[in-house]
Amino acid sequence: MSDSNFGLGTKCVQSGYTPGNGEPRQIPIVQSTTFKYDTSEDMGKLFDLEASGYFYTRLQNPTNDHVAAKIAALEGGTAGMLTSSGQAANFFALFNICECGSHIVASSSIYGGTFNLIAVTMAKMGIEVTFVSPNATEEELNAAFKENTRAVFGETIANPALTVLDIELFAKVAHEHGVPLIVDNTFPTPVHCRPIEWGADIVTHSTTKYMDGHGAAVGGAIVDSGKFDWMAHADKFPGLTTPDDSYHGITYAEKFGKEGAFITKCTAQLMRDFGCIQSPQNAFILNLGLESLHVRMEKHAKNGQEIAEYLKNHPKVSAVHFSGLPEDPYHELAKKYLPDGGCGVVSFELSGGRAAAEDFMKKLRLCAIETHVADARSCCLNPATSTHRQMTDEQLEAAGIPAGLVRMSCGLEDAKDLIADLKQALG
Ligand SMILES: *Cc1c(COP(=O)(O)O)cnc(C)c1O
Repeated sequence: MSDSNFGLGTKCVQSGYTPGNGEPRQIPIVQSTTFKYDTSEDMGKLFDLEASGYFYTRLQNPTNDHVAAKIAALEGGTAGMLTSSGQAANFFALFNICECGSHIVASSSIYGGTFNLIAVTMAKMGIEVTFVSPNATEEELNAAFKENTRAVFGETIANPALTVLDIELFAKVAHEHGVPLIVDNTFPTPVHCRPIEWGADIVTHSTTKYMDGHGAAVGGAIVDSGKFDWMAHADKFPGLTTPDDSYHGITYAEKFGKEGAFITKCTAQLMRDFGCIQSPQNAFILNLGLESLHVRMEKHAKNGQEIAEYLKNHPKVSAVHFSGLPEDPYHELAKKYLPDGGCGVVSFELSGGRAAAEDFMKKLRLCAIETHVADARSCCLNPATSTHRQMTDEQLEAAGIPAGLVRMSCGLEDAKDLIADLKQALG
């Protein structure tokens, strides 16, 4: 289906799979590890990347490819792939162009798992990082680059800090240094922001969050804009611009061009060697979520806005972080990048600190206590008494997570019921 002119909603429902005459209407779950061929030559062509097709689900599976194609269409990219989790997506996106001796410039305001991945695990692989403030000026950003910088990384709306990335600025500086910008677009989803339109080169997702949206399947995705010219910076990206000895001497950027090189290499090399494939069952569940993503995101963001407005006027709440509020420090960026709303995650501080937060969490009835976010069901988390309980109040304050901070992920319930729950829990 040639659908680049369709609206986002139509793409959510229709893109990625068009059945032929008499074929299943819904994407079939191809529950098969292997694919059968008539001749060895036929299969050999696949291994040589001479023909496209399937041979082993660790690398590629038709169910996953339909769903990846839908996400690529939503983001406005040229190619996409699914991974087993959001962690795998970010690791693959970075490791596809970085190796021992490379350097990454990353926003410091990112998901804790990604922070650990880059700062601890990838450091053990000999990949260095410089973290920059999401509010860094152009000058400060420029100063973070080194001769061996290979990628810039940030999150559109950061989890959990809810900062908004100045994508256009980060992309401009990355491009001036001849490297791509990778943006994790998990929180707004392409329904509310399409980073490629602002200059991002690669977009990643934890599809576990809003894309699935029902707390049912862990997964990730990577989309390539097809715009970054690897050959123009060939010395920086030898993995894409010189022959791959582990794949019959193929030079990805030559054979697959700007549009296909990144995802083909990521599949042929990293998926082959690390095997972080999403199960076709999970891809099917993910697609059910995608079919209503545009309907759900509007409601999540609307509930987030109503809850944020309620909380900011509550006497026991000392601060509310939500870029949809005019007084939020990220409101101007949100107006530019998230004109239709961001997501349903709101964080707020109780003036009574740790004790008040503990009491509040105990009294919640409708909102569940979960570390999860971006689910149809609303949930709350107080880091000081759960995920970060080993830290003192002073350490929490220094880390920007005050003891009285609560993160709420607004689900799809009626806002009036959520507000009633908050009201009784705040007491
Ligand atoms: C949850 C999350 C991840 C990690 O995704 P998993 O699917 O849990 O591996 C990465 N980035 C962001 C922004 C997230 O919220």
